[in-house]
Amino acid sequence: VPDHIMSIVPYEPGKPLDFLEREYGIQKSIKLASNENPLGTSPMAVKAISDHLSTMNRYPDGSALKLVNKLADRFNISSENIVVGNGSDDIIALLAHAFLGAGREALMPLPSFLMYEISVKASGGNPVMIPLNGLEIDLDALADSVTDKTSMVFLTNPNNPTGTFFTKEKFTAFMSRMPENLLVIVDEAYIEFARDENIYNSLENPLDDQRIVSLRTFSKAYGLAGFRVGYGVMDAFVAGVIHRIRQPFNVNSLAQVAAAAALDDHDFLEKGIGIMHQGIDFLSEELTEMDIPVMPTQANFFLMDVKQDATMVFNALLKQGIIARSMKSYGFPTYLRISAGLPDENKAFIKALKKVLSNHG
Ligand code: PMP
Repeated sequence: VPDHIMSIVPYEPGKPLDFLEREYGIQKSIKLASNENPLGTSPMAVKAISDHLSTMNRYPDGSALKLVNKLADRFNISSENIVVGNGSDDIIALLAHAFLGAGREALMPLPSFLMYEISVKASGGNPVMIPLNGLEIDLDALADSVTDKTSMVFLTNPNNPTGTFFTKEKFTAFMSRMPENLLVIVDEAYIEFARDENIYNSLENPLDDQRIVSLRTFSKAYGLAGFRVGYGVMDAFVAGVIHRIRQPFNVNSLAQVAAAAALDDHDFLEKGIGIMHQGIDFLSEELTEMDIPVMPTQANFFLMDVKQDATMVFNALLKQGIIARSMKSYGFPTYLRISAGLPDENKAFIKALKKVLSNHG
């Protein structure tokens, strides 16, 4: 096995919902670890899926035409500029596979979404990590680090795991420092949750620049994480390159109909975003009262400083039925990350955390 493959540390997803039942016999667990939508599946998506179940003997539409056309209409772009994938993870891997390889570098913030590093390494390319400035992506340091080997830069807006954001002004200044022949991936997995209107939104308020690739997902605000659908918006040439190497049926047919229906389910989308905002506000207030610093966020998750070993608190919370995320391995040894849940789940989290912290002193 080549060294570059053996150097990959496997991605460790948030624990699944039935983990606590298997591990500790806890029947009802609350998962706040993977930034999912707690509201369930869009009713319109459920209906579309059930209508489609009897034709599962057929292959999917390899071009995902209906979904792609809907997205093109939504953002007033051409379908030639859209590639859908088996989650945005798929698009990240395809971009790395197509545009990197031995001798090429991709810049990314540290910490950032782990699949960037994994996909770059899998391509044989070299990930170059640029530390955050506090909790924010350091656009200046990223621009300073470009060399003639740099083929790709990954940015996340709002950022995961810190929830910070950058403005169009800052991004425009960053792009002016980028060379001609490189791709800048702007991963907007959480953009639907952003409340600060100054955030750069690459599809609603685009910069006309062929080097920009926008990444979006149906896994978060649209509540379809289990279906695995994401998409990239990019220059038609770049899209054409990706089409050469993607699997012919990389988005299954139920996922295609579910995503197309969810895109039209405005009520579900609005309700989910509202619940997340309320949840973030409720949790922030409660935690602040408990003297636990909460980091500002534009996403559906946030960081909190529990002021003691985060992995110990994470493990103690598991025994209380709560699945959170320790940020210890991300360079924040006393931070937990949680996403907002339903009101009862948020209350249960606060109750469990109070219990855990009083036990740990
Ligand atoms: N980008 C970011 C920043 C993420 O946090 C995630 C999921 N955790 C993804 C991409 C991947 O999302 P998906 O593959 O479910 O579309």
